[in-house]
Amino acid sequence: MGGRRYSQKTVNDHRYQCLFEPLRIGPVTAPNRFYAVPHATGHGWNQPHGAIALRAMKAEGGWGTVCVQITEIAPDSDMANHPMERLWDDTDLPRHITQVEAIKKHGSLAAIELGHGGMRCRNITTGLPVIGPSAMPVLRPEVPLQSMAMHKRDIKTFRQSHKRAAIRAKQAGYDILYIYAAHDISLISNFVSLRTNQRNDEYGGSLTNRIRLFREVIEDTLDVAAGERAVAVRFSVAEPGAKYGLKHDEEGRDIVEALAELPDLWDVNISGWSHDSKTARFSEEGYQQPYTEFVKTLTTKPVVGVGRFISPDNMVSLLQQGHLDLIGGARPSIADPFLPNKIKAGRLDEIRECIGCNICVSMDSYGVPLRCTQNPTISEEWRSQWHPESPALSTGRQSHLVIGAGPAGLECAATLIRAGHHVTIAEKRNKAGGRVSLESSLPGLSTWARVRDYRLHQLSQSANAYLYLNSELSIEEIESFEADNVVIATGAKWRNDGVGSTHFEPAPALQSSYRILTPDDVMQGSIPDAPTDIIVYDDDHFYMASLIAACLQQHGHHVSYVTPLPQIATWTDNTLEQTDIISSMRDAGISMYPNTAIESDGTFCNVLSLHKEPLTTGTLAFVGARQSNTALYDRLLERGKIQQLYRAGDCITPGIIQAAVLSGHRVARTILGGGSIDTHREQVLLEKHSFNTETP
Ligand code: ADP
Ligand code: SF4
Repeated sequence: MGGRRYSQKTVNDHRYQCLFEPLRIGPVTAPNRFYAVPHATGHGWNQPHGAIALRAMKAEGGWGTVCVQITEIAPDSDMANHPMERLWDDTDLPRHITQVEAIKKHGSLAAIELGHGGMRCRNITTGLPVIGPSAMPVLRPEVPLQSMAMHKRDIKTFRQSHKRAAIRAKQAGYDILYIYAAHDISLISNFVSLRTNQRNDEYGGSLTNRIRLFREVIEDTLDVAAGERAVAVRFSVAEPGAKYGLKHDEEGRDIVEALAELPDLWDVNISGWSHDSKTARFSEEGYQQPYTEFVKTLTTKPVVGVGRFISPDNMVSLLQQGHLDLIGGARPSIADPFLPNKIKAGRLDEIRECIGCNICVSMDSYGVPLRCTQNPTISEEWRSQWHPESPALSTGRQSHLVIGAGPAGLECAATLIRAGHHVTIAEKRNKAGGRVSLESSLPGLSTWARVRDYRLHQLSQSANAYLYLNSELSIEEIESFEADNVVIATGAKWRNDGVGSTHFEPAPALQSSYRILTPDDVMQGSIPDAPTDIIVYDDDHFYMASLIAACLQQHGHHVSYVTPLPQIATWTDNTLEQTDIISSMRDAGISMYPNTAIESDGTFCNVLSLHKEPLTTGTLAFVGARQSNTALYDRLLERGKIQQLYRAGDCITPGIIQAAVLSGHRVARTILGGGSIDTHREQVLLEKHSFNTETP
């Protein structure tokens, strides 16, 4: 075996000093320019331990300002099933007080984004009417609800609620109180927008009238802040693609100009959320700059903006060129809560760079604590007491053998190495990275290689890590290795037999009817040379089929995309990519056939009309289920010669890359914990005597 022993390497650089200069924001001072902007965490008001620990970790990692996500100000702003924070009344206060203490303990400022969801609320749990400037369907076309047009009395009530929430936020100790006017998830935005505001009183019509409520709420909050707290505005300056949407060089600009000096801080972005949180597949780092850079030309107040910033050089240039005063980060702060501290220490190679995949975002749709492909410890700070930088040190200095250098194997090995153990990794291919090495070659996914590179770098820092490529060990070699623990992380392969999410039976006719290509074939370059018609059949429903289609089209083939489900790349709605995927396929000339299933005899059928579709092809790129490579694990288990045998990642069950990384991390923690890990559960305590069981 040809192993590589990595050597120690240190980096030290002070070019980034300006990122660590304090900045005055109204009456408070941010200790540095790293600003963890508000973002959905999935730990809402009813999972406070997880929420607090997640935010405190960012403060510990050096984010000078740590913001709390949308905090509903009143029961008529009920966003359930998206777990938001709440400040409905005083009973919510203790949680916030603890949260502020946890953030400030590390010297950071604590900010809270007070918000009312307006026409994006559902109010299903409270049963109250949804409110808005006008009577109209709510801003989710698939939800059968409408908003009630607010009378002036309702506007007054809203202002009072907002003010009371601001008073409570101040009482809790927050340094920065936000007014939220972004993402279309805001009553104030509903008033600003011509699309939703059809009023003809002093709150509708002209721009001055439409921003009246915005201005009033800023003034109300300034009253509460009374020069002791800063008041921030989160405002989307543009709504690309939206009918009547704000444009950054038209009304978006006029609004900033009109309110320029009123708040103490401008936190600016673009709307809706799919534009604000674009994936790396469809945007470069800093993609919001062309929209937001005008803001600093109109105000003397500090400006924070976002754009998946991970490059320290880029951050410095944003400050030096006067585009921003503070570097905002949601996803970069999720992927690496310690990004600021690493830059400060000159440990740039150790930054766990966001890959822009939006798995974090997808969890919001499910209303569960967020997950991250790069950071397996996110949401586990309290639940499992996992720290992103320091795995629990076990006393022994054991040596471990990991088979497979995909995301699961690499994460497992890197975590064991950080705990001071010895790890040997045997990988059968000539390259580490497993599926991320393959997938990062697909159009738009180059950033995904960071999953591999971050972990390889970790291994490179240790003299105790040995990586052997081109090494497929035999059962006997593994057994005679005498490792304390053996971890099998052999991954999975794409099936070619017709089994997919909607079809559980193999379909032998496919093999005889078509030349079948799997994603593995395409990614490894096994593509027909001469231009031909290819059907890409998507029974996976995430990103892969759309990328295989793009890849084949780029190779000069004529591609049709076919799927049995009613939507294109269904699950990508959760990563906010679906619209971009559809546009990109349309622009590339790829025909799309939803609701079209492949039958066991290899023909295609419309699932609504039940008529046969006249689709013909000689080559079928089949994107269905995957099959775990379990043979090695199964044999070792059966022979029973290895006492401590684990498996991790796709070889347990195929899933998304994030799940493989988490699985590899969990196996390492289990090994370090002597075979077990403890988890905490958020528990709601019942109030005594609160149930009347008698029938009235
Ligand atoms: P995961 O996402 O679970 O890490 P991947 O498929 O990305 O899974 O990675 C698995 C890695 O394991 C691949 O690089 C693959 O080449 C490697 N592998 C599979 N079987 C063996 C084996 N028997 N010996 C060594 N490496 C293996
Ligand atoms: Fe970045 Fe993906 Fe992690 Fe989200 S899940 S923070 S996009 S790496």
